[in-house]
Amino acid sequence: MITKKDIPFHKPHITEEEISEVVDSMRGGWLTMGPKTIRLEEEFVRYTGSPYAVAVNSCTAALHLALKAVGIGQGDEVIIPDLTFTATGEVVCYMGAKPVIADVDRDTGNIDLKAIERALTPRTKAIIPVHFAGQPCDMDEIMELARARGLHVIEDAAHALPAWYKGRKVGTIGDATCFSFYATKTMTTGEGGMIMTADGDMATKMRALRLHGISRDAWKRYTKEGSWFYEVIEAGYKYNMTDIQAAIGLPQLKKLEWMWERRCRIAGQYDSMLADISDLVRTPKVKADRVSAWHLYVIELSTDALRCDRAVFMEELKEEGVSTSVHFIPLHKHPFYRDTFRYEPSAFPVSEKLFAGIISLPIYTDMSDEDVCYVAEAVKRVALRNKR
Ligand SMILES: *Cc1c(COP(=O)(O)O)cnc(C)c1O
Repeated sequence: MITKKDIPFHKPHITEEEISEVVDSMRGGWLTMGPKTIRLEEEFVRYTGSPYAVAVNSCTAALHLALKAVGIGQGDEVIIPDLTFTATGEVVCYMGAKPVIADVDRDTGNIDLKAIERALTPRTKAIIPVHFAGQPCDMDEIMELARARGLHVIEDAAHALPAWYKGRKVGTIGDATCFSFYATKTMTTGEGGMIMTADGDMATKMRALRLHGISRDAWKRYTKEGSWFYEVIEAGYKYNMTDIQAAIGLPQLKKLEWMWERRCRIAGQYDSMLADISDLVRTPKVKADRVSAWHLYVIELSTDALRCDRAVFMEELKEEGVSTSVHFIPLHKHPFYRDTFRYEPSAFPVSEKLFAGIISLPIYTDMSDEDVCYVAEAVKRVALRNKR
């Protein structure tokens, strides 16, 4: 008899380090954007090797500012993948532009190159590749296609910290890369985000936009630092990170690769334990020239070989004490995208097929080897019980 466990889908790795850094901010009295936010930006420049970092209060804000900084506007089109969170699409709508949804690749869940090509029109201005589950997209091909047509590439790297593509770190490839520090992501500040770019003008623009459109340059030009004078150069946003968030982020970044190594080990353990039910459950595949952040471990049920559907499978896992999730409900299925842009399921055969069988298993630093074993055994039990 197996002792029943209760494995949550996610738990952030928070220790005394984060807690005392937050307390230090509280006692110090500097709560909003300040020295710790600047330090977190500097640490991101150092860690990724990308020249500029702009800290904001979410990845959604990061994506919005990046689109704004490259000048996406009314009537433009931006190509995004179907298998993503609505943030990727909603930011395009913020600009009065149209999110053009493209189908994904069967093996990786990443945006499909052929689907991008089919989605191109004279109004296409940008592509937002999403590194699904942490595996980088085909960036060489995407960058080449974008360069040839003068398109901007804004990476939604909410899952991809840290990840590598042909030896290059994600954060150094597209025109801008947006990371998320949401509570469930690979490092957290509670809520938060970071934009990396090699374009200094873009960074300056995004710095002004994140704080009410106030130009730091203008204010440096006319006054001494710390004075009351400032100039508003456009209608900006209230998107800045706070020092309380940065206080959580600083120790998190120090542990980032250690936490990643732990997730790699968990993924390996799942791979080997689920190998003997490969006729019932497909495990994720990472291409040889890239390294995944392993933010998610997404299995796909072979629905033809099973008597139950995905919902029942998840329900039975829950009864076994294992919480799981689904990433993602394809964008084209949501009423907003479906009804506003008239998307038809027949245009997305791959994501439709994937969606019917995908389940995200727990994968995070604080899981013990026994927890991982327990989850894999539970998946096996449920699969074999429902075998056709
Ligand atoms: C989490 C997530 C976001 C949004 O991140 P926030 O920091 O919560 O704004 C964007 N895109 C993808 C793919 C995500 O998973």
